Amino acid sequence: MEEWNEEALAEARRYLADLVAFEGTRFIVPKEVFAEEPAVVAFVAQEGVDTEAKELETGTDLEGFCRQICECTRCRLGATRQQFVFGSGNPSAGIIFIGEAPGAEEDRQGKPFVGAAGQLLTKIIEAMGLGRDEVYICNILKCRPPNNRDPQPDEIEECEPYLKRQIAMIQPQVICTLGRFAAQTLLQSSESMGRLRERLHQYEGIPLVATYHPAALLRNPQWKRPTWEDIKRVRQLYDGVKL
Ligand code: URA
Repeated sequence: MEEWNEEALAEARRYLADLVAFEGTRFIVPKEVFAEEPAVVAFVAQEGVDTEAKELETGTDLEGFCRQICECTRCRLGATRQQFVFGSGNPSAGIIFIGEAPGAEEDRQGKPFVGAAGQLLTKIIEAMGLGRDEVYICNILKCRPPNNRDPQPDEIEECEPYLKRQIAMIQPQVICTLGRFAAQTLLQSSESMGRLRERLHQYEGIPLVATYHPAALLRNPQWKRPTWEDIKRVRQLYDGVKL
């Protein structure tokens, strides 16, 4: 048999992970895929995958999805992260908060928003009359960019399908983006945070409120009041009020 290098096998794994990310956790890999993709053929030969058809993973839950993708190496951040930060909270939450990317503390603990900004986010959620375990919290990127640099376009492109799938599984009533970066990414916009928070948006048919990032509030306390106005809108949407 022809020798296949690690790169080809990594490509095959990414290919299979894509099928799962885009098509769902019970996607059956069709026979033709095995026949046509040399890297997948090599993967099958090495890993002993059933060539008739393969059910990649049972279960349709968020935890199962996390298990499927938590060893992701689709972008360079897979090589520098300590932990994959999938997200945390209620898998059928009515509200999802979406930040930018894990920082140092999140990378260490494997959980989103557990540093100083996270403590402020917890207070904001409590001020809404909810607990962290009642909402869902995650980020655009699942791995920490070194030195907290901005996420790169190719990193977002590789990671956003995971977020899309999380949102599709949770089916929240409202999405709240935290900071310019999350809002601009999900809304495919280059407008300023000030402009984006002026109106209600939609992402994949779900109402989306854009507000400031808690880390920005720590640096600019004068933004706390407008943030509270945004958060009240999030709560109203959650309560079923038409805005
Ligand atoms: N900032 C983010 O955007 N996300 C985190 O998880 C932590 C800090």
